[in-house]
Amino acid sequence: MKIIKQIIFVTIFFMFGVLAACWSADSNKKTRTNNSETTSPTTSTATPKINDNKTSNNSPGDSNNKVTNTPSTPPKSGGFQGNLPGGFQMPTDEVGQKMLKEYGAMFVAKGVTPPNTVVFKTESEVSAFQAGVQKSSENIGGFTMELQTAAMNALKEAIAEAKGKNLSITPRNADSSKRSYQQVLDNWASRVNPGLVYWVGKGRLPQTEANRIKALSPVEQITEIFKLEAQGMFFAQGNQKTIIYSVAPPGTSQHISMLALDVAQNDNAAVREVLARHGWFQTIPSDLPHFTYLGAQENELANLGLKKVTESGRTFWMPNL
Ligand SMILES: [Zn+2]
Repeated sequence: MKIIKQIIFVTIFFMFGVLAACWSADSNKKTRTNNSETTSPTTSTATPKINDNKTSNNSPGDSNNKVTNTPSTPPKSGGFQGNLPGGFQMPTDEVGQKMLKEYGAMFVAKGVTPPNTVVFKTESEVSAFQAGVQKSSENIGGFTMELQTAAMNALKEAIAEAKGKNLSITPRNADSSKRSYQQVLDNWASRVNPGLVYWVGKGRLPQTEANRIKALSPVEQITEIFKLEAQGMFFAQGNQKTIIYSVAPPGTSQHISMLALDVAQNDNAAVREVLARHGWFQTIPSDLPHFTYLGAQENELANLGLKKVTESGRTFWMPNL
């Protein structure tokens, strides 16, 4: 009797083993991202899988607190991460990961030099980056615009095509293309400071806390503002939407990368079509004047790891993360 029981037990155990092996081989085939990560030379300890936050994110308003430990080299598995430039520093902090998700489309742009970091820390880092890229200046609509050369050439072609259709494409103002670290910082302060006053006035934020946040370094301030937004205290103009759809956090603007242009005629669908044909797309929802040079045709964007988001009747292309 005992022997029969043992045989049955061993048989069941063996069958289970075969099933588990099949399942595991199948899942390896489907999830190449996870597979390649296990071979990453930087993985010295058990590292959480990079995409897991997508499925485990079930707390609205505080989406980043589960991601703490991503590998520093992106997996070479296609999709958005597979299209990031060589030497790209994958962000490991919450702010960096959020900014990659929200502003990251430009990092897979073709024919140009995207930065290899999501957040520039200082003015000198920004100056060094801007000095190192191929760039061109042009007078457009009475403003001197400076962009990476491929982005400028494509823009000039778009302007020429638009002209043939009795349309014009001009910048909104003098700082519609390249921006310095300080300009981005000033724009950020122009939303943060009145926002703090607003939320103190609403009784949601103690004055002492507002003073403390105001005195922080730019990098520390980003984290604190995102924490307040997670509690419903928003900092875009009107205080109803997140600040990042209004101004960029210090060191993160696509304008720093010289791959962005704010277009005066952005509400004209025909203008947006012409720009798209020349590699200029919208990539930040709610920032309606803002266009990003991606150097690709619309039907290639999904292969770069970007996803189509429709908002305000417009199309935006964002990292599929
Ligand atoms: Zn812009």
